[in-house]
Amino acid sequence: MLDRRRALRFLAGGAITTTGVMFMPAGSAIASVRQQGKKRLAMVIDLSRCNGCKACVVSCGMENGTKPDEHRTQVIQTSAEIGDKQFAFNLPIMCNNCEDPSCVSVCPTGATFKREEDGIVVVDSTLCIGCNYCIQACPYGGVRFTNSTTGTVDKCNFCIQRTSRGLLPACVETCTGGARVFGDINDVNSEISKLLSQSNPMVLQASKQTSPNVFYIGLTQEESNTAFSIHYPQLWQR
Ligand code: SF4
Ligand code: SF4
Ligand code: SF4
Repeated sequence: MLDRRRALRFLAGGAITTTGVMFMPAGSAIASVRQQGKKRLAMVIDLSRCNGCKACVVSCGMENGTKPDEHRTQVIQTSAEIGDKQFAFNLPIMCNNCEDPSCVSVCPTGATFKREEDGIVVVDSTLCIGCNYCIQACPYGGVRFTNSTTGTVDKCNFCIQRTSRGLLPACVETCTGGARVFGDINDVNSEISKLLSQSNPMVLQASKQTSPNVFYIGLTQEESNTAFSIHYPQLWQR
């Protein structure tokens, strides 16, 4: 159960911490990436706008052909209590397409690699031998998984088949709350850059030092420190 402070934060759509102080933004990490002068595709998820509809989960599965129980993204649902009322709290998670991904160096075949041109971490299924070293190396539970159709490792690749053609990722296009924003954080005029500069973005498990490229608005430090898994039980399962 979430505490009252976090519930109020959620309702307010702000970023109140357990101490009441705004956390340091992930801005320094973003600035460091900008200095490299490369395109860096990223996603921002505004938690105050996620209504838990899971349209993103459905559209991702349809776009990428994964089975109904194999997800590149999931929306974790938990709850918060205020007085005698209970409120839902939704946390979309996915592969972070990290700047320093721990999954790349362990891959013995080079199947998992990070694209120079835009920073997306890709799995080449024609090279993947299914050793699962990458799954073990990733600190973000379940965002990498074995696709039971192909027998190789699968994960979010920012819908590379769409974004390489200038289209939005399926989950962004179908997000009913407008919670997911995608773009190049090296372009200071992009919507995502403006959003990041106006907010206090946080990432999940910053202590793992993989420098995620999925940022959250409205995430508390407590949530940031939590090792959420894509298999976190849904509300109805608990
Ligand atoms: S979240 Fe995990 S699988 Fe995704 S890029 Fe980072 S380390 Fe690799
Ligand atoms: S499972 Fe595939 S992608 Fe992962 S480390 Fe092994 S060969 Fe590389
Ligand atoms: S960017 Fe594409 S692959 Fe990644 S979670 Fe969204 S829909 Fe799925």
